[in-house]
Amino acid sequence: MRCPTCIKNAATHKVFDNGSSTTMLGGTFKHWDEKDREHHHYPNTITDHYSCSNGHRFSRKYRRGCPQSVCDSGEDRSVEITTITTTTEKT
Ligand SMILES: [Zn+2]
Ligand SMILES: [Zn+2]
Repeated sequence: MRCPTCIKNAATHKVFDNGSSTTMLGGTFKHWDEKDREHHHYPNTITDHYSCSNGHRFSRKYRRGCPQSVCDSGEDRSVEITTITTTTEKT
């Protein structure tokens, strides 16, 4: 994991994990297809929160992927990195 702002600035940095949060949609997420392959389709979005040693905060949002590689919702397709706030930037 690298800080997107520091990458942009080519700055050396460390990244700290600040925990994660998830949406809490209920329901049944497993099903078995025609070939008895077990699918896990989770509707919840997980957001991992990070900060870096230069004071930036950012998060990574994703869904848990389906273990079946044949499946369209497989893998962590919707990974999205968001920079939340930035403190004073060194120029
Ligand atoms: Zn940074
Ligand atoms: Zn699936």
